[in-house]
Formats: sequence, structure tokens, C-alpha cells
Amino acid sequence: MEKINNLENIPKSNFPDSKITGPQAVRVRFAPSPTGFLHIGSARTAFFNWLFAKKNRGKFILRIEDTDITRHIEKSVKMIMDSLKWLSIFWDEGPDLGGNFGPYRQSQRKDIYIQYVNKLINEGKAYYCFCSPEKLKEKINKHKENKDRAYKYDRECFYLDEKKVKENVNKKEPFTVRFLVPHSQKISFIDTVYGSIEVRTDSIEDFILLRSNGIPTYNFSAVVDDILMEISHVIRGEDHLSNTPKQILIYDALGCNLPEFTHLPMILGPDGEKLSKRHGAISIEAYRDEGFLPEAIQNYLALMGWSYDEKTTIFHLRDLINKFGIDRINKKPSRFDYDKLLWLNGYYLRLAPEEKLVDLISKRLPRDYNKDGNLHNYLEKILPLIRKRMKTLKEASEKIHPFFNEITYSKDLIKLARDDEKNSIAVIENALKMLSNIECFEIKNIENALRQITETTGLDFKKIAGILRLAIWGDSVSPPIFETIEVLGRKKAIKRLKKFKDKL
Ligand code: GLU
Repeated sequence: MEKINNLENIPKSNFPDSKITGPQAVRVRFAPSPTGFLHIGSARTAFFNWLFAKKNRGKFILRIEDTDITRHIEKSVKMIMDSLKWLSIFWDEGPDLGGNFGPYRQSQRKDIYIQYVNKLINEGKAYYCFCSPEKLKEKINKHKENKDRAYKYDRECFYLDEKKVKENVNKKEPFTVRFLVPHSQKISFIDTVYGSIEVRTDSIEDFILLRSNGIPTYNFSAVVDDILMEISHVIRGEDHLSNTPKQILIYDALGCNLPEFTHLPMILGPDGEKLSKRHGAISIEAYRDEGFLPEAIQNYLALMGWSYDEKTTIFHLRDLINKFGIDRINKKPSRFDYDKLLWLNGYYLRLAPEEKLVDLISKRLPRDYNKDGNLHNYLEKILPLIRKRMKTLKEASEKIHPFFNEITYSKDLIKLARDDEKNSIAVIENALKMLSNIECFEIKNIENALRQITETTGLDFKKIAGILRLAIWGDSVSPPIFETIEVLGRKKAIKRLKKFKDKL
């Protein structure tokens, strides 16, 4: 990595002095730090940026902020990209696609940051700081006695004369570069969501732009990139609202126009605390594995902090692109509501084409279920039986195993049937007779035949169906029983009835 270790060698900035004018077209970016999976909150940030770009025929850029991350970067970048693609959030420019404003990974832009740092140093807007971490700690400790005001770096190094600075740099003394925060100024900006915000520069210390290892701080690299990538609107999490005044100072020092800022309210867990792993699955990957459809997640992401008319819940992607606007983002933090997401998923599952569901469910089943190459046909018959109550693909694919495997009867279930032994045996014997005698084994005939058991036994049909469920499905809850028997086929149904009878 290139380091500035000699003042003489510092390249002069090659950026024009003229004010860089603000971009006209909408260009937004999603700038994740690759520290792991794609968090549901970050996915919402990415989605809102993407929707805004689509709505305004702008560009959506993916920028990877990986300067100070050392572990598992590649794995995380891949996970983030895969999750975005799964959600149909495709970028126009990014590390894999390239574009006119690249590179799109901050780790490949270090020279650019150094040039900008130099520009600020040369213009007297930033300075070298040779204070060691120990020395800074001492300063902070000393300040603790002073309760009147918050600690701020005392600018010791700003007052060093140029000769001393040169000497230190030549001696390769480690240094950081600090931004010289102007005195007694007002920084004001309008955030689309939070409104007018004003901060006085006196509350901001001379913050670090470049660390002693040559790596820029987030505030600096983000602003440099947003300028060079001509970002028109910065849409990001509310946790960055407090960084914005510092970033505005950097824009100003570089003579650049500001983008429009939109900070998205936090997402809380059901208990009102910041949404975290404690609350359950929070990665997009986990929801994909659980069997949520991307359409349901998209719809749910949109509802977290944005609303169209306070009552519409269902938004298909096309509606969202048409209706989305950053002016309708709510300042109030949104609460993550798993049940609502589950409900939305059920809605989209019921809406999905049969072919697609069969395909998605088949991928979740063991390979040997397709031994005879008939799995898709079989699933086409099963699907209508489970579709109405399906909540996730995982749940659906787990529930249908009795269509494929021999069933076992739990002790509790046998006890349940034995408690009502006389009726259980009567129902099973009748059912065996009826099912064996049906000529054409199809739903209408199966239902007609089995309903007759009410007459022969005097039991009501609810009771009969309950006993049949235990025998055929090994559970007191099953898909609709006549249809289940039809799909299983005569042979399997009779085998189960006999096996159950033997247990009684
Ligand atoms: N890398 C920052 C993050 O992941 C980006 C913040 C921004 O959008 O400016 O939070």
C-alpha cells in the first residue's frame, strides 16, 4: 500500500480547483461493509435505493466498503451479492460489472484517497497528527476532570511548525491526518426524513481522515467516492445521521455540492430494541433458506418505514416502482413483524405459478424421492392439497414426507386410538372394505364410499375423519383426507390402514 512517508514525495493533487458541479441525473449507491451476510435492514437500504433509481430512471451503484476489513471479505461480498440478486436488486455499476466510475471496491481506491488527503493538506484544510494512541489516551484521561465540556483533540499537532512536521515525516514517525474543523460555523442541511438539521462546528473535534496505517476513515472515503461517483442522493440508515455534518464539512472543503440526504429510520425488534440476532433470523440468506419468496421479502422491506396510503399492504414490484417515493418515508422506527412477513409469504405462495412451486419444493426434497423420475408429476398432485395453508417452502416440503415415506405411529397416537378402540377398529375395517371395493380409485368415489361409514357405524363424519387421519397420515392434522388417500393411491392407503389396525 502506498504511504505518505516523505513530504517531498507527496504528489500534488491533480484535482481541478474549480468547483465540481453537482450531478443532474439520479445516481444512488448501496455501500455495504462486507462483514458478513446481508442484514434485513441493509437489504431495505439497498432496496429503497434501487426503487428510487428505478422510479427516476437513474443508476444504482454497488460499492464495497472494504478498506478496514480483513477477515472473510470475499465470502461476505459473495453472500451480499447473491442475496441482492436473489431479491432482484440488480446494480448498474459495481465491482463485478465495472462502470465509468470504478473501481467499485474501496480497497482498490487507496491512491485516490491519498490524493484527496494531500489536496486538503496542501490547502491547509487538514494536518498531520503525530500524537500516539498513548498520548491521546492521556489527553482524554486528563480531560475527565473537566466536566464542563466534552473532550476534543487539542490541536497540538496543528501548531507544529512546518520544519518539525517535515522532520517527523522524514523520520517515519507514524501519523494520522486530521481535518481542520472551522471555528464557530453552523452546518445545516435538510434530511428528507428528519427535516432541517443544524450542528455547530464547535461540537466537532478535528476528526481523522487517514489512519496511521494509510487507510482512510469511513467518513472520508465515503465522501470522496460519493463525489467521484457523482452520487446525487445518499439514502442510508439512520445510524449515519450523526456522521453527516462531518461529511458535509469534507464536501465543503473539497468545494463540492452536497447530495440530497435521506436517512432511513431504524428497524426494531418486537420488544422495541434494535433488531438483532436475538430476535431470530435477520439475514436475507436465512429467509431464503426458510423458504420465503423474494417477492414477499421485497413487499415486506417496502413496508418497513415507507407507506403509500397507510392502508395498502400488498405491493408487487411494479407497483412499488410506480408508487415509491422518499417523501413518504416515516420518521418513526418500524418494528419487525415476523407474522406479517409470514402472512405475506403465504399470499405470494398462493399466487405463484404451479410450475414454479413444484420446482422450488422439489429442490428441497431428498434426491431419492425422484428415483423413478416421477417427482414433478407427483408434486403436481400434492400441491393443491397443501397450497392453501402453505406459509413457507420449508414448512411445506417438510410436511409432505408422508406422501413419500412409510409412516410410523407414535406411542401417544396409538394410545389415543386405543382409548377409543371399538370405534377405531370399526372405522378402519369399514374403510378397508370400502377402499378395496372402489372400482375407479378417484376422489368422488373415495369420498362417497368413506362417507357411508357414518351409516354403518353410526359415528359422525368428523369422528371418522379423525380416525382415518391417524391411520393414513400418522397425525391428527393432515391435508384434506379424501384427496390425500387419492394421491397416495389404493395400495399405500390400504397398507397403512392394515398397519394401523395391527397396532391397536
Ligand atoms: N459502509 C457503510 C455501512 O455499511 C455505508 C454507509 C453509507 O451508506 O454511507 O454502514
